Amino acid sequence: MWLARDGHDVTMVEKKEYPREKTCGDGLTPRAILQLQDMGFDFDVPEFHTVRGLRSYAGQDLKLELEWPEHTRFPNWGGIIRRKDLDAQVAKLAEKEGVTIRQHTSAAPVVEGGRVAAVELSEGDGTELVEPDYVVVADGSLSRFGRALGTHRRRDYPMGLAARGYFDSPLSDDDFMESQLDIRDANGNAMPGYGWIFPLGDGTVNVGVGLLSTFKQWKDVNTSDMMAAYVESSPDYWDLSNPTPHRGGKLSMALSVGPRVGPNWLVVGDAAGTINPWNGEGISYAYETGRIAAGVIGEAKGAGDSTLLHRYDQILDDEYADYYRFARLFVKAIGYPSVMQTLTHVGLRSKPLMEWVLKVMANLLEEDEQESGVSEAAYRALEAVVRRAPTSVVEL
Ligand SMILES: Cc1cc2nc3c(=O)[nH]c(=O)nc-3n(C[C@H](O)[C@H](O)[C@H](O)COP(=O)(O)OP(=O)(O)OC[C@H]3O[C@@H](n4cnc5c(N)ncnc54)[C@H](O)[C@@H]3O)c2cc1C
Repeated sequence: MWLARDGHDVTMVEKKEYPREKTCGDGLTPRAILQLQDMGFDFDVPEFHTVRGLRSYAGQDLKLELEWPEHTRFPNWGGIIRRKDLDAQVAKLAEKEGVTIRQHTSAAPVVEGGRVAAVELSEGDGTELVEPDYVVVADGSLSRFGRALGTHRRRDYPMGLAARGYFDSPLSDDDFMESQLDIRDANGNAMPGYGWIFPLGDGTVNVGVGLLSTFKQWKDVNTSDMMAAYVESSPDYWDLSNPTPHRGGKLSMALSVGPRVGPNWLVVGDAAGTINPWNGEGISYAYETGRIAAGVIGEAKGAGDSTLLHRYDQILDDEYADYYRFARLFVKAIGYPSVMQTLTHVGLRSKPLMEWVLKVMANLLEEDEQESGVSEAAYRALEAVVRRAPTSVVEL
């Protein structure tokens, strides 16, 4: 979209057909809303449900409702919309800007010396070779296209596993997202992650549970059991009924995938592992990295110098590296169930503390707050927690 808006000739290739399902929590924070506003998204469609903030709870008696903060750059509201509706509208907006969209078409690279020499497009029985000047790889967390170019995920970085399903609920019009911070397995053991119920405003809610790889039983996790245990323990007021079969997926996070730049290609979104480990949010980071990639390609084309693509790496590091370094430490810390429980139970007793935590988790700190040293102090405090925790408990 951004390249087409700047007058470039862009083709987008999608192997499915819009509107297509995408396994997701369907939750949009103010960061994602800002990107959608800039794209010209129509929030007045009936499928879009606005939310004022986040309700978090742990156990029976600890509960806090926090509104999205006022911010100089981001709006103070979020939303929920099924991905099939969100992505179909975004694709239409891109088309309006002049992007040619090829649906039902699968893309695979022809690689020569690390360069995408051509892209093979397969549609039905037919194939065709095209030779774009630049390629943006945006094929999601499995990223077969990216892997063919040599990208790989760092095994020492965390990853997430999540599942979601839709339920009917009389509270579907609620104007808060809800997250349960104290999730347990079937035996009552605490797990690092959270459960969510995101109201869609149409009589249904998106219910899901996400877990981080930083605890030792990670490999034995069964998402069906996790979902069942979470639904069973969810607050009665949701009165969940009529579930759809749930679907799961992997969350590639914390800038875990690289290289992100090649001679004539860039990797964005889940294909680059850009999900925020603090909260599992990936839509806004997919939009943001796509937009940064477009800017860099525009500059490279303008100057006739493809080496300028490497600025992408630098911009991503400037934008996210410190924040994600802090996030990696946080998810390492909460890999110890006792740390997760302590942080949750202490945090939920203090509204000012949780207001700050919400800003950190949703990446909504103002620039001066980031520079004030508070974040650095929190980082050092977390470092101390991780140092003291028994290192034998986690494999990282
Ligand atoms: C259970 C779950 C819940 C989540 N909840 C949230 C949430 O509430 N909020 C949030 O912000 N994030 C959430 N995420 C993360 C979010 O879904 C992703 O970060 C986001 O979808 C990344 O966007 P993307 O464009 O990079 O990749 P995707 O959305 O995966 O899009 C990739 C696209 O590429 C297409 N494709 C793949 N290979 C090819 C090919 N070879 N040729 C052509 N097309 C191809 C696919 O069909 C797909 O349409 C959740 C993830 C999971 C698994």
